[in-house]
Amino acid sequence: MTKKKFQEGIAVKKDENFSEWYTQVVQKCELADIRSGVKGFLVFQPWSVMSMEKMYASMESVLQRKGHKPYWFPTLIPEVNFKKESSHIGGFTPEVFWVTHGGDKKFENKYAMRPTSETLFYQMFAKWIRSYNDLPLKTYQRANVFRYETKMTRPFLRSREFHWIEAHCAHATEEDAFNQVKEDMDTTKEVLHDVFGLPFMFFERPSWDKFPGASRTFAADVLNPDGKVVQQPSTHMITPSFAKAFDVKFTDKDEKEKPAYLTCYGPAISRIFASVIITHGDDKGLKFPWDIAPLQVAIVPIQDDVKIKKKVEEMKKDIGKLYSVEVDNRDKRPGEKFHHWEMKGVPIRIDIGLNDLKNKQLTIFRRDLDKKEVIDEKDLMKKIASIAKSFTNNLIKKADKVFDNRIKDVKSIEEMKKSIKEGAIARCGFCSVEKDGEKCAEKVEKDVGAFVRGTKLDEKEKVSGKCIACGKKAKHIVYVARAY
Ligand SMILES: [Zn+2]
Repeated sequence: MTKKKFQEGIAVKKDENFSEWYTQVVQKCELADIRSGVKGFLVFQPWSVMSMEKMYASMESVLQRKGHKPYWFPTLIPEVNFKKESSHIGGFTPEVFWVTHGGDKKFENKYAMRPTSETLFYQMFAKWIRSYNDLPLKTYQRANVFRYETKMTRPFLRSREFHWIEAHCAHATEEDAFNQVKEDMDTTKEVLHDVFGLPFMFFERPSWDKFPGASRTFAADVLNPDGKVVQQPSTHMITPSFAKAFDVKFTDKDEKEKPAYLTCYGPAISRIFASVIITHGDDKGLKFPWDIAPLQVAIVPIQDDVKIKKKVEEMKKDIGKLYSVEVDNRDKRPGEKFHHWEMKGVPIRIDIGLNDLKNKQLTIFRRDLDKKEVIDEKDLMKKIASIAKSFTNNLIKKADKVFDNRIKDVKSIEEMKKSIKEGAIARCGFCSVEKDGEKCAEKVEKDVGAFVRGTKLDEKEKVSGKCIACGKKAKHIVYVARAY
C-alpha cells in the first residue's frame, strides 16, 4: 500500500533532481502528453490549458486596456515576405517549417509556418497606415507558432510548436517606439510578477544577442532552481531596414513622408506556464497563483453519507457563484484525495466529515502556506475571500526572496565560476556590450559555461572597476547566468 502511494505522488525532491522533478510534475499532474507522434509537439491537457486560458485572458486584458487591438493573422507566410529583410531571414531560416505542397501539387513558392509574424503584420501595416493620424498602431494576436528547434525539447520550456501572444506596433517617432518598449516592460511586471507571481530581471541584450531584425532587444530572464535562466517576454526596437523593406511609412504633420518606427513584444504563454510550475512548485507538486489556478477550491467529503452529500452540494453552489469549485466524489481514501489535490496545486481544499457536520465546522487546507485550519461553517465564504486576497502575495513573497538571494557580485572569473556553480546570477563589470565586447563574452562562456545576459535599463549603480574578462576599464555592469 505505501509503495503504491509513493508512486502516485512526485517521487523526487525538487532541489535534488530538478530535471526529473519537472518531468514527473508534467506527467503526474497531467499537464501535457508528449506521445503525439511528432517530436517537440505536445498534447496540452486540461490542467495546463485551463490555467493558460486564464493567463491569456490576464495578459490580453492588460494589452487591450493599453490600446492594443486583437487580430488573427494567417498561419502561413509566403517565402517572399520572409526574404525581404536579410537579418530576419538569416536569423530564422534554420528554424522554419516550410509548406511545399497543397495535396499532390507542389507550390511554385513555398510557405513558412509562422515562426513569428513581423513580415505579415508589416505587409498589412504598409496598406493600412497613411498619415500620422493612424499612429500609433497597436496590434496583437494570440497564436501558435512553429520553430524547428534542434536543441533538446522540453514540454512547455522548449517545444517546436508553442502558444504565445505577439504584439506589433508602429510609431511616428523613435521616442514613441522606445516608450512602447518601456510600456511592454511595465506590462510584463504587471502580469508576470503581480498576477503570475514570477520574479524576473529585464536586461537589454548585448548587440551579439539581439532578435534577428532588432536594433535593440530587451528580455526578461526568470531563474530556475538549477541556476539556469529562462528567457520570458522580450520586446524589441525593430531596425529601420524593416520599415524600409516593407514600405511602412506615413505622411507627417509637416506633410513629409517618413518611415514608421516599429516595435514588437512576445510573451510566450506556454513557456511562461513552465516558469509558473517551476517557480512555485515544491516536493508535493504544483502550486498555482490564485487567479490562474485551473481550479480554485476542491471539496473532499470524508465519508460516503447522504447528509454530507447534501451539505457539499449546497457549499458547491455557494462557492461556485464566485470561484471555480469541484467536489471529489471518487471512490478513494480521503488521504489519497488530499494528496491528489495538493499535487495538483489547488489553492484551497475543504474537508468535511460527519463530526464536522455535527459541530457545524469545516477543515480548510491552504496550499500557499500548506496549513490546515478548522473554521465555523458560517465563516466559509469570508474565509475563502480572505485566503484569495493573500494567496498570490504569499507565493510572490517567497519567490522574490529566493530570486533576490541568488544575485551575487563577483570580481574575478574564479569567483564567477563559484557563484554560477552555486546556481547564482553573477553581476560584474564588463568592457563593452557592442560588437567589440563579444570576445570577452566568448571567454566567459568558455571559462564559466555561462552567458552575458545583458545590462539593466534602470541600473543605478555607478560603474567602476574592470572588465571581468579582459581587465580593461569597465563601461557596464552585466549579469551572467547559465541559460536554457
Ligand atoms: Zn572585456
